[in-house]
Amino acid sequence: AAASVRELLLSRIRDVPDYPKPGVVFKDITPLLADPAAFTALTDFFAELCVEHGATKIAGLEARGFILAAPVAVRAGIGFVPVRKAGKLPGATLGQAYELEYGTAEIEIHAEDLSADDRVMVIDDVLATGGTAGASLELIRRAGAQVAGVAVLMELGFLPGRARLETVLRDAPLEAL
Ligand code: AMP
Repeated sequence: AAASVRELLLSRIRDVPDYPKPGVVFKDITPLLADPAAFTALTDFFAELCVEHGATKIAGLEARGFILAAPVAVRAGIGFVPVRKAGKLPGATLGQAYELEYGTAEIEIHAEDLSADDRVMVIDDVLATGGTAGASLELIRRAGAQVAGVAVLMELGFLPGRARLETVLRDAPLEAL
């Protein structure tokens, strides 16, 4: 993205200290969503990445990934696939557990949403430890589809998210604004 677009988008992210718990700085994207120029610029940025990397589907990660990914799918003219927390999808699902700081979490996808012809771009707001994005890549491959890449608004550079994702990304790109 152009430097001016980066500046605009980063100026619309609010740091909320000690949320949801002490020591965490929460990256709040609601000011960006409320600003149509910023939201449109971000949608365009992600849509260009989808075209550049030949994506045929976009997987949005619950919950903020849904908000960002859905307009990108419409803009890019490709399908949207929700990656949800376990127990929320009504059809036949594939599930993938992954490690959290304390304990584990599980995400699910509707297997029938993806086919062998699909190249899937994963979209979320923040890459922290990379656990959620990594599990979503496993799901995409287990559904028989290919990974086009991972695109996030922000990567928390002080956490080993990129390193953790490297093995599961293989040659696919990780794009962070
Ligand atoms: P992780 O699996 O550790 O990469 O965590 C990524 C998920 O947690 C994403 O869906 C983010 O929306 C959320 N998340 C993690 N850390 C933050 C943060 N500091 N601010 C906002 N969201 C975060």
